[in-house]
Amino acid sequence: MVRRIFLLVLILALVASEAALAQTDSRGGPDFKKAGDEAVALLADYIRIDTTNPPGNESLAARFFAGILEKEGIEYKVFQSAPGRGTIYARLKGSGRKRPLIMLNHLDVVEADKRFWSAAPFGGEIRGGYLYGRGALDMKSLGAAQFMVMLMLKRAGVALDRDVIFLGTADEEAGGREGAGWLVRNHPESIRDAEFLINEGSSNSVSGGRVNYYGIGLTEKTPCWLRLTIKSAAGHGSIPRSESAPSRMLRALGKLEAYETRLIVTPAVARYFKSIAPLHGNSEWRRAYSDIAAALNDPRLRSLVLASASNAALLRNTIQPTVVHIGNKTNVIAPLAVAEIDCRLLPGQKPEDFIAEIKKVINDPGIEIETILAFSATESPVDTDLYQAITSVIKGEDPSARFVPTVLAGFTDSHFFREMGITSYGFSPFLIPAEDFSGVHGNDERIPVESLREGTKLLYRIVHRLCAAQSAPAAQ
Ligand SMILES: [Zn+2]
Repeated sequence: MVRRIFLLVLILALVASEAALAQTDSRGGPDFKKAGDEAVALLADYIRIDTTNPPGNESLAARFFAGILEKEGIEYKVFQSAPGRGTIYARLKGSGRKRPLIMLNHLDVVEADKRFWSAAPFGGEIRGGYLYGRGALDMKSLGAAQFMVMLMLKRAGVALDRDVIFLGTADEEAGGREGAGWLVRNHPESIRDAEFLINEGSSNSVSGGRVNYYGIGLTEKTPCWLRLTIKSAAGHGSIPRSESAPSRMLRALGKLEAYETRLIVTPAVARYFKSIAPLHGNSEWRRAYSDIAAALNDPRLRSLVLASASNAALLRNTIQPTVVHIGNKTNVIAPLAVAEIDCRLLPGQKPEDFIAEIKKVINDPGIEIETILAFSATESPVDTDLYQAITSVIKGEDPSARFVPTVLAGFTDSHFFREMGITSYGFSPFLIPAEDFSGVHGNDERIPVESLREGTKLLYRIVHRLCAAQSAPAAQ
């Protein structure tokens, strides 16, 4: 009997140590190998949930995460802005000595046309070292890594100085009004106390197996999407009228096409160019980038810099017509013409000033201008504990690592939080070669499995550095 009890105790002890081993390695830190396996399996399952927006159906993904959080004993809420439009919010409690960190991601993805894919877009297939699927880059991978970080902190029982919030929102791909925008309007109390936020919105430059730099996104351009409408009498195509709606719309678009917005160097953009200057082998580029404002005053350097469309997009407000409806029959002059233009503004620019500028250029009071989406941009500071945590963890592994404070020409949900005063950075923990980025919103979107594993580990270390109680042992 005694022997039996001894055996039972031994078995229980073995089971317990096995369970502990599943969460920690021999040094008491997380088992990154196991966490990496779990991140890969989690992302594959997550990709299999079709959250194409529209319609989104993000509640399916929110419930997927909720099921795991329930089992892990982590406090969470599922919000719904409308039927099917779910947002998942989970919170690990800290001592409250410092203000919370939000790990933000979006649950929705853009459409995928499976005819152009070599793998099923919602299959979660792993082939040749890559995990394929819509969202593998944008941004279910980062969502999966953030989620794993939360599980790892919880399982290892890490004492925290600040709460860690996992926030997966709906509708980012359509502007975020039904997701992050809805949450900040309807439940600001859930995030108002946060100090920091990490989101998509930046990437690292990797080529030839080398990391050229780690990007940290401090600010973004903002959309100023406009709809132009004009109504006039309908007519027959055989009797042209220059005052017809289609003709006036085409003239307005022609004026916008010919118009050059002025060049503007914002402090964040100047800082971005300056920090990438040393990466260029060519001395002319180095000179241009190291003082971008001076380069724009030198005709030769100016044309060199502006020849790159992505450079030009960071140096001016831009105007791009994207939708035009001026009729649908060859011999009919339609009574209505509508066009949409995608304008993007630099940080510090006000939408109302820009719209006034557009009105002046078009110079046709009969054309009505309606705002589809617009907001002002804000910038997050660089001298923060979050910046420090990211750079010091990476430098611990790679002392020669270079960091570039980037400015995104597009926009993410970060602006909703920057507007509330939360320091928000675009940061990706993944090191992905440039050629694999072609899949963002494109065909055969995929992530190297190894990048996902390593990125999960890096993100854990950064979050641990920022949030763990100062007396807690450092993450291995
Ligand atoms: Zn995205």
